[in-house]
Amino acid sequence: MKSCRICLSALGEPLLSVSAPALSSLSTLLDLPTTIFACTTCGHAQSPDLPDLQAFYDTDYKISLQSDGHDQLYELTDDGPVFRTQHQARLVLDGDVPQGGRVLDFGSGKAATLQAIMAQRPDLSPHVFDVSRDYVEHWRGWISEKSQASYDLPASWDGTMDLVTAHFVLEHVADPVAVLRDMARMLKLGGEAFFLVPDPEANSGDLLVVDHINHFTRPALERLVSLSGLEVRSIESGGFRGAWTVRAVRSAPADLANASGAQAAASIGALTDLWAGILDAMTAAAPDLAGQRYAIYGAGFYGTLALSRMQEQPVCFIDSNPHLAGGTHLGIPVVMPGSQPSDLTQIVVALNPAIAKEAMKGAADWAADVPLRFFTAD
Ligand SMILES: [Zn+2]
Repeated sequence: MKSCRICLSALGEPLLSVSAPALSSLSTLLDLPTTIFACTTCGHAQSPDLPDLQAFYDTDYKISLQSDGHDQLYELTDDGPVFRTQHQARLVLDGDVPQGGRVLDFGSGKAATLQAIMAQRPDLSPHVFDVSRDYVEHWRGWISEKSQASYDLPASWDGTMDLVTAHFVLEHVADPVAVLRDMARMLKLGGEAFFLVPDPEANSGDLLVVDHINHFTRPALERLVSLSGLEVRSIESGGFRGAWTVRAVRSAPADLANASGAQAAASIGALTDLWAGILDAMTAAAPDLAGQRYAIYGAGFYGTLALSRMQEQPVCFIDSNPHLAGGTHLGIPVVMPGSQPSDLTQIVVALNPAIAKEAMKGAADWAADVPLRFFTAD
């Protein structure tokens, strides 16, 4: 990997190199190494392209296609589970979307977020674009055919949109500047680009997701927006947990802010060190766990990561997401907390290390006296 995908500066040695297997964002294991670089000029962190990126998204990447109701859990509240697309729709509608406005969901997948937006704002005119035709079924019936595009953007859409959204798209693409330029080109003057991307400093496990080939820091996002012919309206972390919410407007290019790329690259370096330590701790625990009846708490990304470093499989995963519990993950049963077998000798906690201890505070209620094992870098 020779140069930065955003500012094109030359890159040095990788900050982290881990042998196969690697984890994908869909919690599958791929026979690839994980390598992370950071640009000291603009602060962008990045990993090499997947071997065949185009084919991966065209035919392999079927996010939430299993069933219509399938959606990733965002949080559990007193009013019940909130799913990711509902939360994304709320964030989009926090902005000013003009009455009757034309909205394009870019890299839409099933466009479940846009559908949730339309439920609240039936005055809007919905458009979708994706690099696959896997989702056409899901668009039929509520988006007119002339407002659907696969593979190529119609020239007639140039400069016509009031809002272009991209929910967790740019972390996957080989040329984020070109993609954001395409989004910008669709906008009217004054129109808004809204996008969500993971924030590696708020959720450092994102650094290990091998199809997230871009890991954006704040200075890198400022540079990206500016190079795409947009002006930053806001870049906020935390509106979506572990992610950046970026709003940018099509207008005259703005001056670059003074945020330091070198500093951002150094923070990424601290996180890659953290992960090198956690991966070592997982590998070191594997021989001990091989002799035990253990469970992994967390059937998502972190659970898959822990599993990938083990020598023997756990009895089950434990997960509080009602969409996962009752099924299997990588062939291993997933059960709700409290429904695990009574003869477990250990529960391995595989959650975001920044929140793992806090999240397991209530575990005494359902895990009884089965010891919990946390993985930390020290
Ligand atoms: Zn750069």
